[in-house]
Amino acid sequence: MSVIDIIGNTPLIRLDRINPNPRVILYGKFEGANPGGSVKDRTALYLIKEAEEKGLLTKDKIILEPTSGNTGIGLAMIAAAKGYRIKLVMPACVSVERRRVLEALGAELIISPAEESTDGAIRLAHQIYEDAPELYFMPNQFDNEANVRAHYETTGKEIIEQTNGEVTHFVAGMGTTGTIMGVSKRLKEFNSNIKIVGVEPVPGHRIQGLKNMSEAIVPKIFDPSRLDERFFVNDEEAFDTTRKLAIREGVFVGMSSGAAMHIALKKASELRSGVIVVILPDRGDRYLSTSLFASICSKCPP
Ligand code: PMP
Repeated sequence: MSVIDIIGNTPLIRLDRINPNPRVILYGKFEGANPGGSVKDRTALYLIKEAEEKGLLTKDKIILEPTSGNTGIGLAMIAAAKGYRIKLVMPACVSVERRRVLEALGAELIISPAEESTDGAIRLAHQIYEDAPELYFMPNQFDNEANVRAHYETTGKEIIEQTNGEVTHFVAGMGTTGTIMGVSKRLKEFNSNIKIVGVEPVPGHRIQGLKNMSEAIVPKIFDPSRLDERFFVNDEEAFDTTRKLAIREGVFVGMSSGAAMHIALKKASELRSGVIVVILPDRGDRYLSTSLFASICSKCPP
């Protein structure tokens, strides 16, 4: 078995202590159990696997991708396991833990200006690629349907199996939107009554991994018609709920998990009955250097 073989099949954690409504069952899908520590291992695997199958990625090419971290960790892990060179472009605002992990996995890092955020990293990666396209393979997770297929074939399928088909609501934060697009497709095929709830950060947010669609380049894979509902969260709501998950459930996750959970708790309190599955994209230890767990005061500056 290789590290690649243990990607996916993550557990569903039942969250009774934080759940405000006993008539509703609330589950968190714990993606931190993946070997690279996040949901993006699934995407990374499909990006590489499909490129190999299509002959776009060969051993003489360097993998090049703009990523705020988790996809990079997944790609770097798989690149190391398969013997590829990899260069990752990321904004300076990405947490120090993520950078250290990438370096440990042997990735070469190119840092773009913090104030240009994810979009700056995307622009810089495209520039590097266009200067010498023959050197690189760029997976382009924002526009690559392999990102959606990863979640259609694995995450969505697992959720149906793990809930014995009883899932009624799926809640996920949106970054590339690969998770929610793929899971939506799978769940709707299974039962079109299942509600898909997208969670988006407000402009100027500090929720790593998520994107506000109006202030950022909209991913090509994003199809808003695959969502039934779309809600906004702010940093305070996301961070407070993340801390609550750790303290009340012992579930130590990142701030994008708290963002999705904040909306899931609202939904849970409004429903007469139902089975809600929320994606918890990564673990909390990736954010120890941020203000997330630094203080009990949710208004502290970064
Ligand atoms: N949370 C975290 C921590 C992430 O790294 C990502 C990926 N950018 C997401 C949420 C969003 O997932 P997706 O890209 O599938 O929308």
